[in-house]
Amino acid sequence: TSQPVASPTSAARSFLARAGKLLIDGRFVDAAGGQTFASVDPGNGEVLAQVAEAREHDVDLAVAAARRALDGPWGRMSPSERGRLVHRIGDLISEHAEELAELESLDNGKPYTAALGVEVPLSADMFWYMAGAATRLNGASVAPSVPYMPGQEFHAYTVREPVGVVGQIIPWNVPLLMVAWKLAPALATGNTVVLKPAEQTPLTALRVGELLHEAGLPDGVVNIVPGFGEAAGAHLAAHEGVDKIAFTGSTEVGKSIVRAASGNLKRVSLELGGKSPNIVLADADVDAAIAGASLGIFYNQGEVCSAGSRLYVHESQFDRVVEGIAQHARSIKVGYGMDPESEMGPVVSREQHDRVGHYLGLGREAGGGATIAGGHLMDRAGYFVEPTVISAPHADHPVVREEIFGPVLAALPFSDLDDLARQANDTVYGLAAGVWTSDLSAAHKLARRLKAGTVHVNTYHVFAAELPFGGYKQSGWGREKGDEVLQQYLETKSVVVAL
Ligand code: ADP
Repeated sequence: TSQPVASPTSAARSFLARAGKLLIDGRFVDAAGGQTFASVDPGNGEVLAQVAEAREHDVDLAVAAARRALDGPWGRMSPSERGRLVHRIGDLISEHAEELAELESLDNGKPYTAALGVEVPLSADMFWYMAGAATRLNGASVAPSVPYMPGQEFHAYTVREPVGVVGQIIPWNVPLLMVAWKLAPALATGNTVVLKPAEQTPLTALRVGELLHEAGLPDGVVNIVPGFGEAAGAHLAAHEGVDKIAFTGSTEVGKSIVRAASGNLKRVSLELGGKSPNIVLADADVDAAIAGASLGIFYNQGEVCSAGSRLYVHESQFDRVVEGIAQHARSIKVGYGMDPESEMGPVVSREQHDRVGHYLGLGREAGGGATIAGGHLMDRAGYFVEPTVISAPHADHPVVREEIFGPVLAALPFSDLDDLARQANDTVYGLAAGVWTSDLSAAHKLARRLKAGTVHVNTYHVFAAELPFGGYKQSGWGREKGDEVLQQYLETKSVVVAL
């Protein structure tokens, strides 16, 4: 399905030519030691840009700049001014939608159409939504009862203050959106930031770094340090000068973040892996369920932490639903992200390609199950994978248990609702779930029973800025988005005055 590919537009080309720096204290600089790494186009394996690689010393400089910035004009800015600045960042993202979508597609591999149609607008919206929060960080007035001070009157209130210097470590699957989910609430609440993008996809974060400057953000408020997880990332997570770390990535690395953060007991929020159940009841609208379950697993090449990667279908509809999704999978146009015809791009890297290939092999070899659609890596340049539907041999098979982070759906039939609820919750993860039914009570009853941070009913992948997002169990700590994320970036101070 190889198609002629448009060469980068002049805006993207000119950014690629100047992209390779760290953003520290308002300036784009080389790494102190001069190291760089290659950002690779997963659609053809070619190098897009050499990017400065932050190591320990660079991270130290970025943390120091963020600390200084807390006491500068940023710390004195009124909430309303801060809110307008955050809003302006959303405007600039929106004004540069095409360029950002192109950089995102080149760097990550995803279809340009998805980046432009879904992820850039969601990113801008996150800033617009959070802009309003800046002026609503109110405390409360409190009436204390103090039994051992009889007769004493008090005036007491709470104040909400920024946590301080925040380290943010983000993944490669939706890089721009992760920048938005992280920066918007941190800035709305008045913190300063050291952001480490994933080594696979540093480009849109760096472009946003330029836009922050254009928006008028004071120097040092946001510092961007592309680099590797074990070096820049681990150092940031362990840093004594960092007050909070916000991490999105794998559950395994999340655990190492917690260990690293324990040195100074910095605050930690984590958005980790998932193996989310998508459940089709017997009375579901079958066509809607097929379309929704397909979106749930195949959007963004399946590289979504909340992908609906386990499909449970009532046995009376199992063949029909699974065959419908398989047909859809076979019809997906897999191709280079910048090709406007492409509906699915390559996975992000050779490593990820190998990883998905390993699970495809396990799926093909399993006795008792069957690969209904796809099942192979594609034999062409770039890291392409066939959209795959596997009728799982049993509930304990690795394709059912483990997060694959690729376009691979494991389907299982069920007959009994209690048993289904137990199976759906029988996972170390708890990020999301889907329920497809025309029975309102059944939907709400299941929503109550599912141990998941988001339950979709007759829809999937709704990422509105207003809705809190995060995980039960080993899918994470805390929530992002919505008003809930604000408390992750604030300390509460009680002030009590004897009258
Ligand atoms: P994946 O395995 O899907 O690439 P990771 O969890 O490894 O996901 O990566 C998510 C982010 O975490 C990336 O920015 C990566 O560089 C970073 N990272 C990886 N290992 C560590 C680590 N030990 N400490 C801190 N950050 C890390």
